Amino acid sequence: MMKQTIQIFARVKPPERKQQQGIYSIDEDEKSAPSLEILLPRDLADGFVNNKRESYKFKFQRIFDQDAKQDIIFEIIAKPVAQSVLAGYNGTIFAYGQTGSGKTFTITGGAERYSDRGIIPRTLSYIFEQLQKDSSKIYTTHISYLEIYNECGYDLLDPRHEASKLEDLPKVTILEDPDQHIHLKNLSLHQATTEEEALNLLFLGDTNRMIAETPMNQASTRSHCIFTVHLTSKEPGSATLRRAKLHLVDLAGSERVAKTGVGGLLLTEAKYINLSLHYLEQVIIALSEKRRTHIPYRNSVMTSVLRDSLGGNCVTTMIATLSLEKRNIDESISTCRFAQRVALIKNEAVLNEEIDPKLMITRLQKEITDLKAELAMATGEWRTEALTEEELHQLEKLIASFLEDQDPESRLEVGADMRKIHHCFHHFKKLLNDKDMKNTVPSETTHQACQEPFKDEEHTKLRDLLKQRDNEINILVNMLKKEKKKTQDALLLSNTEKSDARLPQNSPFIPGSPAVQSTSVSSAPSQAQDLSICRHRSSLLHRKTGMREEMSLGRQEAFEIFKRDHADSVTIDDNRQILKQRFSEAKALGESINQTRSKIGQLKDAITQRHLQQVALGISENMVTPSIPDLQEEKLRSQLEEEKTRYKTTFMRLKALKVEIEHLQLLMDKAKVKLQKEFEVWWAEEATNLQVNSPATNPQEHLKPVPQQDQPQLLLKKSSQGPEARDGVSSLDICISERPMSSIPLTGDSQTDSDILAFIKARQNVLQKKCLGSN
Ligand code: ADP
Ligand code: MG
Repeated sequence: MMKQTIQIFARVKPPERKQQQGIYSIDEDEKSAPSLEILLPRDLADGFVNNKRESYKFKFQRIFDQDAKQDIIFEIIAKPVAQSVLAGYNGTIFAYGQTGSGKTFTITGGAERYSDRGIIPRTLSYIFEQLQKDSSKIYTTHISYLEIYNECGYDLLDPRHEASKLEDLPKVTILEDPDQHIHLKNLSLHQATTEEEALNLLFLGDTNRMIAETPMNQASTRSHCIFTVHLTSKEPGSATLRRAKLHLVDLAGSERVAKTGVGGLLLTEAKYINLSLHYLEQVIIALSEKRRTHIPYRNSVMTSVLRDSLGGNCVTTMIATLSLEKRNIDESISTCRFAQRVALIKNEAVLNEEIDPKLMITRLQKEITDLKAELAMATGEWRTEALTEEELHQLEKLIASFLEDQDPESRLEVGADMRKIHHCFHHFKKLLNDKDMKNTVPSETTHQACQEPFKDEEHTKLRDLLKQRDNEINILVNMLKKEKKKTQDALLLSNTEKSDARLPQNSPFIPGSPAVQSTSVSSAPSQAQDLSICRHRSSLLHRKTGMREEMSLGRQEAFEIFKRDHADSVTIDDNRQILKQRFSEAKALGESINQTRSKIGQLKDAITQRHLQQVALGISENMVTPSIPDLQEEKLRSQLEEEKTRYKTTFMRLKALKVEIEHLQLLMDKAKVKLQKEFEVWWAEEATNLQVNSPATNPQEHLKPVPQQDQPQLLLKKSSQGPEARDGVSSLDICISERPMSSIPLTGDSQTDSDILAFIKARQNVLQKKCLGSN
């Protein structure tokens, strides 16, 4: 059992550009726990004004300042939790803080650089690395990804991938069994046999989350996301299963309702997050008070799901993410306060062991048979009648398989029947005598027998048989090649669909190259699943990004204009460059591996040659093999060792590079989906603008703006960050009337599309002229 209070860590985010940083200091006194001191200026006008105190001090296990990198965060915070999960305990890491304080960055990672990958991908990498190293147990890993929004659970790994809004995702409900264990109905669990498969699931969930998010439900700030790794382990032959769960939780923004300050729908949502975080707070308070017996877990979905993580059977860690800009000081103080309470909660993690009933039944049945036999022996109820022919036959078969079994621990199980035991001894004696007889046969005879030439007839028969087998083998090899090519083609097809920058044909990852061999061994049973993940990912992305192929020319051109100005396209281009670089690095590594491999082959040959020469020399000079070591051979051997080490290190580098390439491709895919999604919003806005500005010139009925009451207020906010703001035209310059995207035909008729394009271009011209005029 592991008794531990919830560990609390703080991470300070670098300030946004142009934002004034608040005053804080970190005291890392070695004797006591490090503390974070935040100064609250007396003049702080908005929100939380406190004239009595100016300085606040909070203790944490450790505090990470702005420059802390993701690898340190993983090493210090996540690795110990992952280790206890590998040992069979439940683990939870949750990030808590206001919107924009770096929760998603810490838990999942940044979308731009490989080095920005967060706790989830790093933990997956670590877990799979450890599983590969440990051959003493059989492990299975499953992944689930749950989003909780407005007190409703959604399955982010929905295999249908058709969600364009959150409500399309399968709804997950909570069931409680009589033992008060929580079960999540409708939450799918997906087996992942490699890091790559698990990573694909993470990105699938993230992409689903992004697609399902609309300006109306900015789910990323208002929902909680729980990524769970379910790990089962078992020792071979044992009936005991160990189950452990690792929850990696990205909570909703912790800002308070008053600050959101928007009426209507947004307020309801804000109330909901706060309600849900409020319930979390209530649970935490109840847990930190010693005398409380009732803990209100059932009040919300999130506290029900995380029941074990809070005050239960779990090793839990909290990361308080802080954005210590001046405007956020008050929120940061309340985040720290919350953390101090959390630190009081004691958890007791136990090993979750259970018995596999099937294995147990087999084991008990055997035990019963053994006991019955023992009893018969003890009570002297021996059978005396002779063994039947059938029994003898069975017994000899058993002996034969026992003798063939290479396992030194195998046993000959004949039960407690003395007749059988005697027969076994007789049989062994016979075998032993026969063997001795054979060994004493004069060697001349054996020699003669060996030397006796085959009869011609027999010879031809054997040759024909050999030929026939050869043909069969050739046919099989060809069949295998065809199958392999088919799989390769399918993979390539889905890969080319996925992104422009895919593995080149001659990359070192083609089947048969070391990198693929190594993964295909571990993932052989899941190849079909692998392929299906690849396919569904590509179809998902194709549906979202590849739409351009179905776009009219007008829309395609507009998409190019939109892309040109979009900040994300820089990231995509940068990543594409990095990917290219990584590909050539991988290619070079692959070539170097091939060279090393052939060098190893040559060295081995040279050693054998050298050895033979030495022996031949010994024979010709009629002396025993020289006892002094052969220097040349030793030199060759040390060269061989060097090459082997080089092979190993290059191979490991190539493997790491492969993970990085996969990650970068997923990041790019995600950025493309985002770009496409934002383009669609922009396009819809432009279509409406056109309609509002020139109703007479545009007779298309379906482009009429929707009535005022249907207009979502939130879109206004979105559009201020959109291209208008970038182009320097405020939303007042052009009368924007928003309406849901879904009312604009996505692949509208090309006439309408070219009208919208003309409108966009005309507006851009006006803008350019304006700019020139003002200069
Ligand atoms: P949250 O999930 O808490 O709302 P995010 O993780 O989305 O916040 O962070 C907001 C922005 O700040 C993102 O653009 C993210 O990349 C950036 N960011 C957050 N934490 C860090 C950090 N430690 N270093 C660099 N950038 C960060
Ligand atoms: Mg977030």
